[in-house]
Amino acid sequence: MTKTISLLGSTGSIGRQSLEVIEALGLQVSALTANRSVELLEAQCRKFRPRLAVCMDPEAAGALKIKLADTPVKVAFGMEGLLEAATLEGTDTVLTAVMGMVGLRPTLAALKLGRRVALANKETLVCAGELVMQTAEAYGGEILPVDSEHSALFQCLQGNRDRGEVKRLILTASGGPFFGKERKELARVTLQDALRHPNWAMGAKITVDSATMMNKGLEVIEAMRLYGMPLEKISVVIHRESIIHSLVEYCDNAVLAQLGTPDMRLPIQYALTWPHRVPGSAEPLDLLSCPSLTFAPPDPENFPCLALAMEAAGAGGTATAILNGANEAAVSLFLRGEIAFLEIFTRVERACRMIPATPCRSLEDALEADAAARRAVLGQ
Ligand code: MG
Repeated sequence: MTKTISLLGSTGSIGRQSLEVIEALGLQVSALTANRSVELLEAQCRKFRPRLAVCMDPEAAGALKIKLADTPVKVAFGMEGLLEAATLEGTDTVLTAVMGMVGLRPTLAALKLGRRVALANKETLVCAGELVMQTAEAYGGEILPVDSEHSALFQCLQGNRDRGEVKRLILTASGGPFFGKERKELARVTLQDALRHPNWAMGAKITVDSATMMNKGLEVIEAMRLYGMPLEKISVVIHRESIIHSLVEYCDNAVLAQLGTPDMRLPIQYALTWPHRVPGSAEPLDLLSCPSLTFAPPDPENFPCLALAMEAAGAGGTATAILNGANEAAVSLFLRGEIAFLEIFTRVERACRMIPATPCRSLEDALEADAAARRAVLGQ
């Protein structure tokens, strides 16, 4: 079980909920990092007393250093700071809750020290999943999922880790705010509409990914890597209520599911306490007051991002890094109001068609593919 944590991305939605769990469990915090939310990071440092605080943005780090001058907290910045937080001595678990593929290098660095990485950053496994899993194995590090679907699968796989017995992993998807809409309606949706998720309170990027269904595509790739499963053994079902977080079907046709209220504190806590369970702060599930559970197939006609991600997953190599880099760039354009909702797909698709996938043998291969994809999206 975890005792001392470096929390990368402490001011985002997962980061803030992680600190609630950390406080409830009485764990130590050795490092906190943020992008540029100086005020919140200062408050978190005063409360949790880490040894190191990092802002990705150098100016923000300068401001933080002045604010924390009366404390012993060391302040660092940029990727170097993030790597220092991931490798800080005395840390046993690195919780990676940063947004985007910036989480890749610190995850690899922590795994090389044989640490537990509680991974809330799916882009890491999408960009360079094989490399990350090989690194974990070679250095005795472990990756525990924080994403609710992957935590559900992990929970349903406990005691049954023999992969030969698993027939299928079934990921549930809420369908996001636009489920049931057709293309002509999707052409008119606004940023505000896209940010209104029916069940989960999450960061802006993942909420948009949820609206396009790209999030589920990234999660299929994440599940392939985490559990060493081929694409054809993973399926997606729309489950609007987000009560069943995912399911595992075994060779005898038994299906195990994990249920709970949509509350990220549960998967966060399980990644920190595994293989044990302890009383937690997530809302209990009341079966008698929960809505009827419904299931539907995905709609590839109106939400083509899922199929595009599946295609990249099947192609392998750098194809998934290209998909992810293109998606990160396109979503940031949408968040800045520069492109329409449907253009996210068209830009990502064009980048995926333009850039040939190659084998992904190193971190550099993944970073190059990512950069080429971003350039392709921004240059369109
Ligand atoms: Mg998820």
